[in-house]
Amino acid sequence: MRGVITYCGLYTLGETPRQAVKGIAEEVLQGLRQFGAVTGPQRHRGVFVVFDPEGVKRVLDLLCHEAGVEVLLHAFVTEATRRDDRITDIVYRDHGGARRIAAKAFVDASGEGDLAALGGAATRYGNDGAVNLGTLGTRFGGIPKEVTITADRLAAAVQAARAAGKGPFSKDRSVVTRLPLSGDLVCYVASEDYDPRDTKSMSAAERRGRAQAWAYLEAIRGLPGCEKAYLASTGPDFGTRESRHIEALHRLTWQEIVEGRRQADAIALGAWGVEWHDRKTFESSFVYPPDKGCYEIPLGCLTSVNTPNLFAAGRVVDADQQAGASVRVMGTAFATGQAAGIAAACVAERGSVDVATVRQRLRAQGALIEASALL
Ligand SMILES: Cc1cc2nc3c(=O)[nH]c(=O)nc-3n(C[C@H](O)[C@H](O)[C@H](O)COP(=O)(O)OP(=O)(O)OC[C@H]3O[C@@H](n4cnc5c(N)ncnc54)[C@H](O)[C@@H]3O)c2cc1C
Repeated sequence: MRGVITYCGLYTLGETPRQAVKGIAEEVLQGLRQFGAVTGPQRHRGVFVVFDPEGVKRVLDLLCHEAGVEVLLHAFVTEATRRDDRITDIVYRDHGGARRIAAKAFVDASGEGDLAALGGAATRYGNDGAVNLGTLGTRFGGIPKEVTITADRLAAAVQAARAAGKGPFSKDRSVVTRLPLSGDLVCYVASEDYDPRDTKSMSAAERRGRAQAWAYLEAIRGLPGCEKAYLASTGPDFGTRESRHIEALHRLTWQEIVEGRRQADAIALGAWGVEWHDRKTFESSFVYPPDKGCYEIPLGCLTSVNTPNLFAAGRVVDADQQAGASVRVMGTAFATGQAAGIAAACVAERGSVDVATVRQRLRAQGALIEASALL
């Protein structure tokens, strides 16, 4: 989670937000409600739901256990074997060494597209040379709950600190929110330009990001009521918004979203805008989806173009610069993840994917897959 504690994309962005992602996401939300570990929907420039990270860990443990999922934590996938057009097995490493798993189908939910790249599936880094900027999430404790910190107040504090020669700071503003249980303040400001595929680049960014985090702390301490603020956590590692995408049967474009195109193989709904963080200017921009509503995501953009037993979920899916800057958010990743899992199960059972079966199973699991579901 990289210290990001706000689910975007679960709700549409209009006057009366409507839930656009259900299915597994709804099961997670229900679990979080039982722990009192979720608040919202709230508004910044979009609509988001705030969760407590420890609550999410516990809820995901419970859901995976109930579903019979064997979760292998701290296992890094380092190799994938390809035979003809299929990935047949992967190697992951733990402290015991290298271990191999064979499977009939795979989902790349690695964010970085590692599995696809290792398995010889077609991938690309970013889109046409543009890659969304990464940011180190920061959490601050020691700020009384009655002290209101808004994005504007944070920006003013940073600008004052910068004028006083303090720093380093990269950005002035971001989402600012409080954790549901502890009341800790969370924001996503400390940004760096780095290559997430290269540990040297990422390590240097993390060092510089932590220096920024301490500078932001000093700026926040300058606000009335925040004198006792402290840095509760950074990261734990840098949050990467974009890295590799698979080359898929369909590249989702913002143009087709703007046109409101209906997708015959729709398997999920996107409801977030084009949230772009620029690597050159470090400025952020946001473009709303048409009518602040939702758009359909086709199975084709989750399906590898040259590896039919490989599907992508989350920010690895195939989308152009703008569509990718929308579809990547966590609320939508729930939906693409669920669809990719069902599609992979379909391939494991019958050797190929059948769109009608995937859509029928998603509906049976309570997922919303067509924009008409929200009309
Ligand atoms: C600073 C910041 C703020 C953001 N704010 C929001 C927000 O407010 N709301 C929102 O919804 N989204 C937000 N996003 C976007 C969102 O966090 C990501 O786009 C989203 O997490 C993508 O999900 P994912 O599952 O595709 O990838 P990730 O969340 O990156 O998950 C990938 C996982 O795969 C693991 N992995 C990677 N490689 C390997 C490997 N080789 N072997 C084994 N495991 C591997 C990683 O450790 C990680 O756990 C933000 C992102 C950033 C960086």
